[in-house]
Amino acid sequence: MNKRYFAAAATILAVAIVVMWLANSLLMQPTAFSFARADERETVKKTVYLTFDDGPSDRITPKILDVLKDEDVKATFFIIGAQAEIRRGLVRREFDEGHTVAVHSYTHRYRDIYRSPESLIADIDRCNDLIENITGRRAEVYRFPGGSYGLRGELITAVTEHGLRYVDWNASTRDAEAEPESAESLYLSAVATSADCNNVVLLSHDSTSKTFTPEATRRIIRYYKENGYVFDVF
Ligand SMILES: [Zn+2]
Repeated sequence: MNKRYFAAAATILAVAIVVMWLANSLLMQPTAFSFARADERETVKKTVYLTFDDGPSDRITPKILDVLKDEDVKATFFIIGAQAEIRRGLVRREFDEGHTVAVHSYTHRYRDIYRSPESLIADIDRCNDLIENITGRRAEVYRFPGGSYGLRGELITAVTEHGLRYVDWNASTRDAEAEPESAESLYLSAVATSADCNNVVLLSHDSTSKTFTPEATRRIIRYYKENGYVFDVF
């Protein structure tokens, strides 16, 4: 009797151990998951798109291209047709070195281009005809001068219906605001405006007055590299 009781108790105990082990494994699952999540958080893909508007310029664009080449990084140039027309070699260099040449405007005169959807598309096409003429390829990406923020819906619809993708930005060197005093201030603006952002579209300019942008770009690239970002183009 005692023996049978003992055998039954042992069986129950064995079953209980198996059940507890299973329950424990199941209960551990969420914990294991959250550990995986923590790991994932550290390896989450971080991407930065460097973008340069309002070029090309003889003074600044070659320096930025040199920095990008040294650092082996690609960028997107939103060009002004009127500047590019007389600097075709620089657009060609942007394209040949693997960067994206995209449409910003031909004239960059807000008063003219934003007058109507038709005038906006005419301005875009004039710039894109030039890009095609220089690189052999039409751009598919566009940036509204001043950004799309607050623009009339009909202008935005005209662009997308014309088959273009438009890109704004979520971080900036602020090299077009006030008169920057140093590469340091541009670098600090880029870092501050892209903090905690895993998908950064950084606005900079390669127009002729942007004295500090090339050196700032070098430091900015190194910052993003050190922080595990990969560089992409539109
Ligand atoms: Zn612009």
